[in-house]
Amino acid sequence: MQVNRDLFNHVMVPNYNPSDVIPVRGQGSRVWDQNDKEFIDFAGGIAVNCLGHCHPALVNALKEQGEKIWHLSNVMTNEPALRLAKKITDATFADKVYFANSGAEANEAALKLARRFALDIHGADKTQIIAFNKGFHGRTFFTVTVGGQAAYSDGFGPKPAAIDHCDYNDLNAFEALISDKTCAVMMEPLQGEGGIISPTSDFIKGVRTLCDKHNALLIFDEVQTGVGRTGSLYAYEELGVTPDILTTAKALGGGFPIGAMITTTDIATHLKIGTHGSTYGGNPLACAVAEAAFDTVNTPAVLAGVKEREQLFRAGFAQINEKYDVFSEVRGKGLLLGAVLNSKFEGRARDFLVASTEHGLMSLVAGTNVIRFTPSLVIPLEDIKEGLARFEKAVADVVNA
Ligand SMILES: *Cc1c(COP(=O)(O)O)cnc(C)c1O
Repeated sequence: MQVNRDLFNHVMVPNYNPSDVIPVRGQGSRVWDQNDKEFIDFAGGIAVNCLGHCHPALVNALKEQGEKIWHLSNVMTNEPALRLAKKITDATFADKVYFANSGAEANEAALKLARRFALDIHGADKTQIIAFNKGFHGRTFFTVTVGGQAAYSDGFGPKPAAIDHCDYNDLNAFEALISDKTCAVMMEPLQGEGGIISPTSDFIKGVRTLCDKHNALLIFDEVQTGVGRTGSLYAYEELGVTPDILTTAKALGGGFPIGAMITTTDIATHLKIGTHGSTYGGNPLACAVAEAAFDTVNTPAVLAGVKEREQLFRAGFAQINEKYDVFSEVRGKGLLLGAVLNSKFEGRARDFLVASTEHGLMSLVAGTNVIRFTPSLVIPLEDIKEGLARFEKAVADVVNA
């Protein structure tokens, strides 16, 4: 059997259009493909591989738990899940954890909990969910409808109801939309998929104030920003705004699928026995790996290292831009960075990604105009230097083409 990109077209549902490159192994922030070509990984599996590839702490946790017990279902609880939940609640505002298998599932749980909470406490009229244009919350029908991109949610028939959107960072529009009928507001504390857009301080504080005024729950989707990505364990810590419910996934498992919704005891109470569930959620294998990832990331050294690395990336992009004049700005925080193309290169983010791949660099886009970088939080400084050198070659190729 020839296992190559061509086989994808024969056996896979065509909802993705993956690169021709098929990686077969990785170590730290380096990856090798079927032809043994080496790549520097500035993509990190879309902000998932927070400790790079095959980090010894994660490999050990996987092997150790793999020889103990893999799966039970939630008919029984398990030690790794309980330990991980204790560590997450000790490190955050939250008192309670619900485990899921992905970001979308964590968000689905958050939205269902918010609706149930409002129904129990305030009655049947309080159902409105407000979210933001360009937001992204996953691909289940509820979460994709709450997400602010019609292209992803249209074409599947009738949508879940009572979901409204306004522009991110537009507090006036938000104030016009929110009312006592608002049940919850879901937002990313830094929009990732939508183009690496940070909230202004006035906006995010204003959203919190208006949620309080109208008794609406504030849900932070930290699926992309969480677990060290922005240089704090969770982005909310540095924003001075605490949500009522927070969702986390992507980096939580460092590459093993897991997600979680966390909240306070008062709110959690409303997800009573039988109201929600998952066969795999909180599976011991996933939780054992996530516990090792959480322990490794949640240290002052790793979190400070994220900020140090951000400076190296920013300095590198500035140098490249001085030579080639391709970016209008570099947005984002920590190791969630977006190089925004200037008007000369408008809409050509994919060209830069393709050129980067040719030069042995894995990168991402966020929309058509932003080249996105979400590398390992512990990427060696040497790999940053080498990756930036490869990126410069890719930029030169696009500019000189
Ligand atoms: C990736 C992402 C999701 C969806 O996570 P999945 O694991 O793909 O379901 C949800 N919200 C945000 C902010 C994300 O970046």
